[in-house]
Amino acid sequence: MTRKEMEQLLLSEVSADRLMEDARYITSEDRESGSPGEKRAAEYFRQVMSGLGLQTDIHYVENYISLPEKGTLTLQDGTALASCITHSYGASTGPEGLKGEAVFFSGSEDVKGKVAVMRGLASAVPCKNLEGRGAVGIICITSGDYPYNMSISPIWGQPVPSTVDLLSKIPVVTVNTPDGDKLLAAMEKGENQVTMTAQVSTKFRTVPVCVAELKADKPTSRFVMFGGHVDAWHKGGADNGGSNAVVLELARVFSKHTDLLNTNIRFVWWSGHSNGRYSGSNWYADTHWEDIHENAVANFDIDTVGTKGSNNFDHIECNKQCYTLGRSVVKERTGQDPHYMRIQRNGDQSFWAHGVPTLFECLSLQPVDGAGKGTFMPGLPWYWHTTQDLFEHLGREELLRDAQIFALAIWRTVAANAYPFAFAELAGEMRSDLEKYQAEAQGKFDLSQVQALVDRLEGQFRALDDKIAGLNSLETLTPEQEQQAKELNDLCMELNRILIPVHYCKNGDLFQVDLAIPIPAFPEFDEVKKLAAMDPASDGFKFQERQLLRERNRVYHYLNKAVKRLEAAGL
Ligand SMILES: [Zn+2]
Repeated sequence: MTRKEMEQLLLSEVSADRLMEDARYITSEDRESGSPGEKRAAEYFRQVMSGLGLQTDIHYVENYISLPEKGTLTLQDGTALASCITHSYGASTGPEGLKGEAVFFSGSEDVKGKVAVMRGLASAVPCKNLEGRGAVGIICITSGDYPYNMSISPIWGQPVPSTVDLLSKIPVVTVNTPDGDKLLAAMEKGENQVTMTAQVSTKFRTVPVCVAELKADKPTSRFVMFGGHVDAWHKGGADNGGSNAVVLELARVFSKHTDLLNTNIRFVWWSGHSNGRYSGSNWYADTHWEDIHENAVANFDIDTVGTKGSNNFDHIECNKQCYTLGRSVVKERTGQDPHYMRIQRNGDQSFWAHGVPTLFECLSLQPVDGAGKGTFMPGLPWYWHTTQDLFEHLGREELLRDAQIFALAIWRTVAANAYPFAFAELAGEMRSDLEKYQAEAQGKFDLSQVQALVDRLEGQFRALDDKIAGLNSLETLTPEQEQQAKELNDLCMELNRILIPVHYCKNGDLFQVDLAIPIPAFPEFDEVKKLAAMDPASDGFKFQERQLLRERNRVYHYLNKAVKRLEAAGL
């Protein structure tokens, strides 16, 4: 059978019926972290995976989980706003509640001692900002009829002594648009007094982290990871029941073809994505650090796929070296040409410090002028993170299509002659990141030596990409080519270990964990903006300049290491 024929067979083996059956079962109960519904799903994972003969471990671990139980908001005239909810990791008020003066915050208003009212999702950055400005409580108004559940912790995964004080000390609630309008109308009339209550239960809870490994027939310790979160807001039909079903179904399909695999596949379901701020994948990342660093080839993350009416493949979230693979698969299966989106600091991205590249997260989106209009991210369905996210929103054809896209992308990684990374465009991305910082520095800091290294890398990457593509165009390899493929795979593993941390991690110590807030490319260079605004004669400028020099040394060192490693490989 040719490689093309094998791919067709694989795609034909993905069953829409089984996908829908599994999704229906998984989404029939609420699945907050630590809930009976989540446990039932985890035990179903065990049943399916061990039934397929995979080595299956459900780790029941103690994670610091936060469940929002009840939020209320009462206006000055006594009107209670029925849509009100509260948030994971917000503070509780106690039954008497918090009485205060509401002030609308649009960016600069004084909220000290007041209850700040803002439009938008309750998330870590705006909530920390308002707390820092002295607000005593926060009311968020989200778009549409259903308030959006969110977690507001800025801490990635489990708090540690150096981060635990960052947890919110003030209560946060959200109301829908109609209730928000009532609040704003009252405030307009000068009725600014509000009473809010928030009941949030934050404590260590036992939650499942589900792992099942499909072993290639040929012995190898290398693996790709494929999975997503199992916990959900309410019944989580789209987010993430459909994706959970895809993980089970692809395990079934791939388990028939272990003779053709070059790496193992580790199927995962994380708990504590929403109620633990990625604490399930963070627990796994901390607990199996060395194994992941040594052996994980790539991470395929799956979230909110297969929704009815989703026909929008606007972009692919990934590390750039995975984009060529993802793009070609999406193009082949849908006819659309998605653009690249740098992977964001969310979605169980717990493995950057380990040097593991990610492909995908969300995949198919809703039309931005239809069910995906005006949502948190254009294209996410309106019911995302609400009580309305039910099984009924999954589409049979859409879920099958998305499962096949994941199947093909994973297959082309685990069954390829050489790992199908393409690095050349990564150099282009790094160049534009550095050009941005160089412009922001306004002549006060020089990045030209680092830029020269990226130029050097680009040529080397092109030569590497050509070699990988050449090997992957062959049906079978000679022993000599097999040796070459092995060496290229080792090289790709090392490059990812060097390049991902320096490009993505803010914390120079890879064994600690960055916060759950947006992190820019080459994060340390973000400080050039501060430097540019300072007087070069000031002490502060000199302190900042030295800090940047140290950071530039770090970036230079790692990029130079990549250059040398490629040179040693004859590139
Ligand atoms: Zn999700």
